Amino acid sequence: MSQAGDFAYAAWPDIAEAAGRGALAVLAVGACEQHGAHLPLTTDTDLALGVSRRIAAALEGVVLPPIAYGDAWNNEAFAGTLSLSPDTLRAVLCDIGRGVQRIGFSGLIVINGHFGNREPIALAARALVGGGLPVVHLDYPHLEKLAGEICDSEPAGPGFYHADEVETAMMLALRPEAVDMSLAAPEYPDFPPTFGIEPMQLRDFVATGVFGDPRPATAAKGEALIAGIVAESLRLIGLWRARHAI
Ligand SMILES: [Zn+2]
Repeated sequence: MSQAGDFAYAAWPDIAEAAGRGALAVLAVGACEQHGAHLPLTTDTDLALGVSRRIAAALEGVVLPPIAYGDAWNNEAFAGTLSLSPDTLRAVLCDIGRGVQRIGFSGLIVINGHFGNREPIALAARALVGGGLPVVHLDYPHLEKLAGEICDSEPAGPGFYHADEVETAMMLALRPEAVDMSLAAPEYPDFPPTFGIEPMQLRDFVATGVFGDPRPATAAKGEALIAGIVAESLRLIGLWRARHAI
């Protein structure tokens, strides 16, 4: 059962065996979204999948094929962003969760890599839990603390990490071939005073799509960020598993 840990490359008997021993399923939810000139559109998916793989490996669980699209409405004014509506994303998550339950996994761990997905994920989790599937959803716990300790640049806004040092460093650790540091340039936009209390397109106030300064990013910093996120995620997952005896 060489590929059992990676659902995408497993055969059905591998998955039946994993479910039979009560394995957990881990699902990364990313986005297809602009990330400046130096990072690919798949950045959020790549990062969430990288974190998910490590969590699944630590738990001897199974990492599912990621959801490579998310609710990226506020980046739609940039070419390259392809967004799902919140209702579509919620429905996709519910369908996948029901499949996970049908196969017989003991629970679903959702690793979110994109801010806009939080609400649809929370709503889908509520529905799935109502149907009897234990679900936990995580948004890179401790990231703000870790970024403060590990990174040299300031975020463009509190807890706002997009194509900046944090995301660039994590990409350098996970997919360095997809990063072009020669194009990494800082931008610290002026957030409109009503940012966060009315819907708005980010392109209205950012020119490059970068929030912050990606230039100090290194693979070593990315490795440290990922290790910290995975450690805190595993701690929280442990609490969740204890509550459900799974
Ligand atoms: Zn991102």
